Amino acid sequence: MSIQISVVIPLYNEEENIDILFKRVIGALESLKLTYEIICINDGSKDKTLDILIDYYLNNSDIKVINLSRNFGKDIALTAGIDYASGNAVIPIDADLQDPPELIGEMVLKWQEGYDIVYATRKTRQSETWFKRSTANAFYVLLGKITKISIPRNTGDFRLLDRKAVEALKRLPERTRFMKGLFAWVGFKSTYILFERQPRYQGNTKWNYWKLWNFALDGITSFSLLPLKIWTYVGLIISLLSLFYASFLVIRTIFLGIDVPGYASLMVTILFLGGIQLITLGIIGEYLGRVYEEIKGRPLYIVRDLYGLDKQN
Ligand code: UDP
Ligand code: MG
Repeated sequence: MSIQISVVIPLYNEEENIDILFKRVIGALESLKLTYEIICINDGSKDKTLDILIDYYLNNSDIKVINLSRNFGKDIALTAGIDYASGNAVIPIDADLQDPPELIGEMVLKWQEGYDIVYATRKTRQSETWFKRSTANAFYVLLGKITKISIPRNTGDFRLLDRKAVEALKRLPERTRFMKGLFAWVGFKSTYILFERQPRYQGNTKWNYWKLWNFALDGITSFSLLPLKIWTYVGLIISLLSLFYASFLVIRTIFLGIDVPGYASLMVTILFLGGIQLITLGIIGEYLGRVYEEIKGRPLYIVRDLYGLDKQN
C-alpha cells in the first residue's frame, strides 16, 4: 500500500528527546487513519541517538533511519530525508518538540482541502530573548525588501509539502540550502496554520549568533544579487561628488592660489574609500566563495547506512 504521509526528522544529539518525540508523533499520526512512515536522519550524532533509533526501527516497521556519514547540518539532513521520503505528503519536523506534532492533523486537513504547502507560523516568539527576536525581525524585513520571492516570516521548517512541491524541491541542486527560501521559491498553493512555539524539550540548541549570522548571509546571497550590484551605484555617486569637489578645488586654486593645509580631509577621504573598497571586496568574496562551493559539484550528503529504506540512484 502506498504511503500517504512521510514525517521527516533530522536528529543531532537528541537522545533525551527521542522517546517522547516518537510517542507524540506516532500518537498524532495514528489518530489520522492514514498510512505513514517516519524517516529519521541521524546527522552524525555523538551520543546514543543512532542506537536508540535503530532500536525503534527494529520494533516498528513505520520507522526508517538514514545514518549520514558525519554531521552535515540540519538543512542538508532534512534534504536527505526528503529525498528518501515516499509519501504523498512530506512533513519535516524538529526532534526537540519545539514544533508540536499534534498540529500534523490540522495540516493534513488543509492538505485535503487542496493546498500544496501548509506551513506552521509562530504566533509569538515570546520564548526567545529580545535581541534574538529583533535581529530575526530585522533580517526578515531586509530579506523581504531585497528579494523577489516572499519568504513567510516566523516560520521554520515545520510544514506539510505535497508530493508536487517535494518533486519541485528535489530539482533545486544548490549546496547552499537555505531551506526556507527554497520552500518559498518553488511556489505552489500555500496556506498556514498558527501555533505557539514551545521551548526545547531537552538538550541545547545547536545555533549560536555566529551561525545565525552566516545563516542570514546564506539567505541573502542565495536569493538576492543586490549586495553585489549596489556598489556600482555607490561608486557612481562617490565619483560624481568627487568630480564636483575636484572642479571646486581647481577653480579655487586658480583664483585663490595654492592652499596647502588639508591633511584631515585627505585622511578622511582615503580611509573612507579604503573602507568602502574592502567591504565591496568582502561582499564579492561572499558570492565567489559560494560559487566555488557550488561548482565543485560534490554530493550534498553521504549516507553511511540505511535502515528500512532502499538505496537511491
Ligand atoms: N539538527 C541536525 N543537525 C545539526 C543541528 C541540528 O540535524 O547540525 C537538528 C536537531 O536535532 C533538531 C533540529 O535540527 O531536530 C533543530 O535544531 P535546533 O533545535 O538546534 O535548532 P533551533 O530549534 O534552535 O532552530
Ligand atoms: Mg530547536
